[in-house]
Amino acid sequence: MKVIATVAEMRELRSQLSGSVGLVPTMGYLHQGHLELVRRARRENQTVVVSIFVNSTQFGSGEDFATYPRDPERDLALLEKEGVDVVFMPSAEEMYPEGFSSWVEVEKITEGLEGASRRGHFRGVATVVCKLFNIVQPDEAYFGQKDAQQLVVIKRMVSDLNMNLEVVAVPTVREHDGLAMSSRNTYLSPEERKAALVLWKALNLAQELWQKGEKSGDRIREEMTCLIEREPRARIDYVSIADPDSLEELSEVDHAALVSLAVRVGKTRLIDNMTLG
Ligand code: AMP
Repeated sequence: MKVIATVAEMRELRSQLSGSVGLVPTMGYLHQGHLELVRRARRENQTVVVSIFVNSTQFGSGEDFATYPRDPERDLALLEKEGVDVVFMPSAEEMYPEGFSSWVEVEKITEGLEGASRRGHFRGVATVVCKLFNIVQPDEAYFGQKDAQQLVVIKRMVSDLNMNLEVVAVPTVREHDGLAMSSRNTYLSPEERKAALVLWKALNLAQELWQKGEKSGDRIREEMTCLIEREPRARIDYVSIADPDSLEELSEVDHAALVSLAVRVGKTRLIDNMTLG
């Protein structure tokens, strides 16, 4: 496994590769969710590149950029075991050298949900992912359904800007009790860890209501909200039932819908989602 820190080296190596290249962009502190993306990429490509870069530009002021968990040695050991060929691990200066001033803005679908709560987040995400695509030039890029809006934004960017690659969506990997795996779960105290299950419970409630014939988006949102509010450690950021492509809120769930939510448990902000229909 090669570990590469510079754009020039990555480009040089890419120019020597033949066959399909799969890229898995991550911010490190890897868990089984990330590794599921890596395994899928491994099965489908001759060469697998994983990037590890904690991207400052997608964090707002007051967010957890400085304290975001990092453990590159452990990450590299895990990736080696998965048979990864290349790890691209650039420094902040390598990705954002002095004078950097070009940004990718995906409009409309970035306005709600995570975009509303985290101003500028998707500008940072779209820009860094575009850069990674330009540097690595993958044939396939793998993203988790866990970050559902991110997936919609990346697909939109790839389509709008005619990027020559396939975006592959990988289902969310969960802990045994249903909590979606996340690098941020390490922030949770044991009590908060228990309380965090409320996200999964709320998603299941939405599915149950919908399966029983409830088609009112407002009713489903209300029921989810009530359930979460009964958990004293949880504070709702948003509960959404939206069209999976436009991400516009639905009052009637008469076709497929993306149920998504962001909830603070203690100081930790957690997100999760499920598709109905
Ligand atoms: P991150 O390191 O949080 O930026 O995540 C890197 C990639 O892993 C993103 O495409 C995420 O959607 C994906 N990912 C994170 N957690 C999970 C999970 N529990 N299941 C599946 N994919 C995940």
